[in-house]
Amino acid sequence: MIRTRFAPSPNGPLHLGHAYAAIVAHDLARSRGGTFEVRIEDIDGERSRPEFIAGSLADLAWLGLSWDGEPVFQSHRLSSYAKAAERLKAMGLLYPCRCTRAEIAAAATEVGPDGPLYPGTCRHLPDNKHAIDPQGAAWRIDMAAAVALAGPLEWVDELAGPQRATPEIFGDVVLLRKDLPASYHLAATLDDAVDGITLVTRGMDLFAASHVHRLLQALLGLPVPTWHHHAVLLEPDGRKLAKRRGAPSLSDRRLAGEDGPALAAALRDGRLPAGISLSSGLHVKA
Ligand code: GLU
Repeated sequence: MIRTRFAPSPNGPLHLGHAYAAIVAHDLARSRGGTFEVRIEDIDGERSRPEFIAGSLADLAWLGLSWDGEPVFQSHRLSSYAKAAERLKAMGLLYPCRCTRAEIAAAATEVGPDGPLYPGTCRHLPDNKHAIDPQGAAWRIDMAAAVALAGPLEWVDELAGPQRATPEIFGDVVLLRKDLPASYHLAATLDDAVDGITLVTRGMDLFAASHVHRLLQALLGLPVPTWHHHAVLLEPDGRKLAKRRGAPSLSDRRLAGEDGPALAAALRDGRLPAGISLSSGLHVKA
């Protein structure tokens, strides 16, 4: 039986793009007799706000979507992220880094899926230098060492087919953020495993992230799900609909008395508001 999930970060209100993602995950589960989880990705305590959590759940219910069990919260699972990070440290795969964004941008010579690739400045600092003050440092994975340890890996996207994992395109990505007890990559991978997610359903803007998640599954001995990266809603300029660019929120529509199930039906049929389109292909500008 499949299990899918919708995993919003409560740092703003949900918009149409979230509605589409939630509908896809919900409908895949329902059409195959599976279950659908809602996971609140609230590790970023600074940016997560309780009103966005309540609003998001109300929005989903308004759209006519039901989820199985209680929603789960990443903020309740911080110790499991720390434990996994300790394992990776014990394997010699993580190193502390105190470089600033500006330093990285200035020294980078390549660009990865998330911006300038980390140039490896702190990778080979002597141990005593690392030990000076790992507090307040970010912890990066030594990607070359991790890839060598894991060996060749594959994963399968239901829509795009079998993929050879190429996590190296991210370079030495951060697994423990300076300010947080995890990173998106670590927390999402662990949660999908612990929650028994068999079909990781999310937008294709996160397609490349799955290379990193597949690597973490191999390193940590986690089960390997199948992925379903769906199309995402685009603004007229071809960029992903985003809350920071002021996409109208579901809550505003709900509170204005709009018909939620009718909106969900329109999204299912691909009837989108003027100017909004669905992405095709795998490359989406953030
Ligand atoms: N929390 C992420 C977001 O809101 C989704 C992560 C995922 O589905 O893996 O974009």
